[in-house]
Amino acid sequence: MTTLKPVISEIWDQERSWKLETYKKNHGYEALEKAWSYNEGELTQLMKDAGLAGRGGAGFPTGLKWSFLPAPDGGPRYLVVNADESEPGTCKDIPALMANPHDLIEGMAICLLAVGGHHGFVYLRGEVVHVYRRLMAAVREAKEAGLIGKGVGPKGNYDLDITVHAGAGAYICGEETALLDSLEGLRGQPRLKPPFPAAEGLYARPTVINNVETISSVPGIVRNGKEWFQDMGTESANGHGFFSLSGHVTKPGQYEAPLGITGRELLEYAGGIRSGHELKFWAVGGSSAPLFTPEHLDVPLDYNSVKQAGSMLATRALMMFDETVSVVRVISRWTDFYQHESCGKCTPCREGTFWMRQIMHRLEEGKGQPGDVDLLYEIAGNIQGRSFCALGDAAATPIKSGIELFRGEFEAGYTTPARELFPHEKSTLF
Ligand code: NAD
Ligand code: SF4
Repeated sequence: MTTLKPVISEIWDQERSWKLETYKKNHGYEALEKAWSYNEGELTQLMKDAGLAGRGGAGFPTGLKWSFLPAPDGGPRYLVVNADESEPGTCKDIPALMANPHDLIEGMAICLLAVGGHHGFVYLRGEVVHVYRRLMAAVREAKEAGLIGKGVGPKGNYDLDITVHAGAGAYICGEETALLDSLEGLRGQPRLKPPFPAAEGLYARPTVINNVETISSVPGIVRNGKEWFQDMGTESANGHGFFSLSGHVTKPGQYEAPLGITGRELLEYAGGIRSGHELKFWAVGGSSAPLFTPEHLDVPLDYNSVKQAGSMLATRALMMFDETVSVVRVISRWTDFYQHESCGKCTPCREGTFWMRQIMHRLEEGKGQPGDVDLLYEIAGNIQGRSFCALGDAAATPIKSGIELFRGEFEAGYTTPARELFPHEKSTLF
């Protein structure tokens, strides 16, 4: 049985864990102290050697991303932390920011040193005002303690500034280039890539964009060394990560563990599926990845293994559904979400999500028309690979996967409403 590995969450249970005093008592800011003595390029190399991969979902190698920044030209270079966590089922960054904001601030300071930057931004989703306040207070504490701010470091000559920005609550602003437009005061819509943000990001300057969990993992690596990080996980995926368990589990929550832990092991830590019921299907990486069934419970949850098993590790948001749940109703809610959040920039996603939503509603209500399931599958297939950004693909994926796994349930929607097929679901999930 894989042992859980609390690292970012190690101090969450301590009294006032979010305060600088608590963080410092638990080795906080020791990594930054150490980082000041690194020569140019060494911190980036350390991230490469440790094998840290982006924890926002894509799993892109962090050190490689930092190394993509062009050579300094005297102009500004930025770090932007993506804290616009919005993927359905994904709920790891918000608790991390509430319980341990200094971990992120320390990681940001180290990343800025690594890339020769002086200004970091945190783009936080707009709805979480309490997190905004907590983060602002932590930045203030770090500034008052002289850890960041003007003229810090052993020589007192390095400026490290952090700005916390709250968005207005749009899923698309988690897409990195839409986030940059939003941060610049524009309407949040994806930009054409390339150029990637590493070359032309915020205000068209070289920019590192990383997720909260990625940057919060940096201090641990600097403090404990690359071997410590390499020793966790699997051959293809090093380190620790949050697995967010929700749905019909006995103890939902954040489980920080080495990558490669299985769904079965995580379920055991979470007390199993609620008493008297059994697992029907589960989402492994939020709503945008193909669904898993009980037969996938022993797949090691690392990038390659999950991909080989036909899904994506993505945000490691495990949503567990028992036999009382209609897969049509679940996917219908997700389709509502994607249609609502589509930014409207490209036709396949703007029109396609609307069409898919109409058909999903018909099937959910038992008013499906002959051929609807095939039509739905075809529309989803036509959106995939033809949208401007990943949101279109994300909307189409669960629909295709749901039909492939549970076609009979979709076809039952020609005659019978989902609420009649699954009469006990309403009171338990929605
Ligand atoms: P991506 O694979 O397109 O890019 C990953 C990162 O690598 C980006 O920062 C990109 O700029 C960089 N990159 C890739 N190729 C590069 C190159 N040649 N040069 C320089 N930089 C390069 O993925 P993405 O669109 O950034 O993210 C998709 C993922 O986001 C999905 O897998 C999903 O799981 C996740 N997601 C997360 C949330 C959330 O709430 N956390 C919400 C929606 C989606
Ligand atoms: Fe906007 Fe959707 Fe097109 Fe992305 S895929 S640009 S969200 S319309």
